[in-house]
Amino acid sequence: MLTKTDHAGAMVDQTKVLVVEDTAEFQQMLEASLSSAGFSVVFAGDGESALQSAEADEPDVVVLDLGLPGIDGVEVCRRLRTFSDAYVIMLTSRDGEVDRLIGLAVGADDYMSKPFSTRELVARVQALMRRPRQRRSDMSGKDDVRVVGSLRLNPSSRQTWVDGLEVSLTKTEFDLLNTLIQRPDMVFTKEMLLEQVWGSEWERSDHLVQVHVANLRGKIDVGDTSLITSVRSVGYRLAVATEPTSN
Ligand code: CA
Repeated sequence: MLTKTDHAGAMVDQTKVLVVEDTAEFQQMLEASLSSAGFSVVFAGDGESALQSAEADEPDVVVLDLGLPGIDGVEVCRRLRTFSDAYVIMLTSRDGEVDRLIGLAVGADDYMSKPFSTRELVARVQALMRRPRQRRSDMSGKDDVRVVGSLRLNPSSRQTWVDGLEVSLTKTEFDLLNTLIQRPDMVFTKEMLLEQVWGSEWERSDHLVQVHVANLRGKIDVGDTSLITSVRSVGYRLAVATEPTSN
């Protein structure tokens, strides 16, 4: 996030977006729409320079095309996740359902199919930046650490521990867990989770929730039982695991 002075002299935070796209036509389209929405935009035309830029520029959001020369978008995302927790929106071809699932599995937060509306992309970036982490400046929450079984979560510092060991979650995984942990034992429907974590502005697929729950389980579960219980045809709840996990 960059801080700059607006025309009235007030300090404003400017969201920095890294666009990774090799097609000039898409680059121009994205530059125009993201800049006019007030975002600071940096570009990378291939995977290698995307990773360098992500490290040097520390973007808040990465808009990542899947089809890139050299290392592809999936691999870029996988490597990005080893050092960055920027939000990642993946751009995929219309019929790329498998690509989308792989993208989410390696830590993308969201995806859009080409061709897409730049207006919708701008709206999604804005929605991501409105997520609860923006309340980090609200320092009231000293006692808001939550504990369920072996799981401990601090919403203020956005840290998570399992059995006393810190685990590294993406922003989306954290938001998902932070939502579930607010009401342990309550069943959240997929629609509720989509609304809480991704925002209610768009139609989203259940896959988005399923894949992120699977990623989250991979990071927080120890042994055979899951802290997140699937409730068939309904949704998920967080519980001190006492029953075998089913999907
Ligand atoms: Ca491309």
